[in-house]
Amino acid sequence: MIRVEKLNKSFGDLHVLKDIDFTVKESDVVCLIGASGSGKSTLLRCLNYLELKDSGTVILEDEEIKKETHDFNKVRQKVGMVFQHFHLFPHKTVIGNIIEAPIQVKGQNKEEALEEGRALLKKVGLEDKENVYPSKLSGGQKQRVAIARALAMKPDVMLFDEPTSALDPELVGEVLATMKELAKDGMTMVVVTHEMGFAKEVADWVVYLHDGKIVEVGHPDELFDHPKEKRTQEFLNSVL
Ligand code: ATP
Ligand code: MG
Repeated sequence: MIRVEKLNKSFGDLHVLKDIDFTVKESDVVCLIGASGSGKSTLLRCLNYLELKDSGTVILEDEEIKKETHDFNKVRQKVGMVFQHFHLFPHKTVIGNIIEAPIQVKGQNKEEALEEGRALLKKVGLEDKENVYPSKLSGGQKQRVAIARALAMKPDVMLFDEPTSALDPELVGEVLATMKELAKDGMTMVVVTHEMGFAKEVADWVVYLHDGKIVEVGHPDELFDHPKEKRTQEFLNSVL
């Protein structure tokens, strides 16, 4: 579970997130949609402390996260993140990428990390790529490795920032399928996406962000087919 209350974030004079209130319950999939520059990435980055909020509260698994009481590196272990551009370690093999953090950060022993890493590779359909370097993979395969790598830390929540936007169209489906599987397994997920089909099919809730404010939250059927707010309607008309 992750909850945000009255979260604000500015970059200099630019007020990017304005009083954001937002709850993601256990096993919920929340899709975050909105125009470029509306603050979607900044919001995700505030959720795992890649970016520091200016004010407001972030509550993770019933604990309020504060710099006085929490080590942000530990918090980040509980909140996995997958980026548009994969960010794999180029000089490590696929399995090397996956076991790096469990061994280095969590102190897991290598045998166990390997065993769990192989199971994750199987889960994302890449068990035959264990010893391959990222440069030899397609974009869709790289992104599935990035997902497996994030899962290796056994996060409570997974954040996805436009995970398919950098992919050739024919590779989008395999990554979305992996994410659907994850949702089916009960993973709590926050997904920034332009894939409205995925949002319709998989999301429990869709959040529409406009100019740093949450304009509308709804079940996908309501929000896509009967948006309450004019701004939501205008945005959907521009993308659908
Ligand atoms: P996109 O769909 O293009 O990814 P977004 O909704 O993810 O957009 P953000 O990346 O969160 O938008 O950016 C929101 C606003 O904050 C933009 O105006 C952006 O220029 C600004 N911004 C983001 N990061 C920084 C930063 N590190 N320093 C200054 N301004 C920033
Ligand atoms: Mg973004």
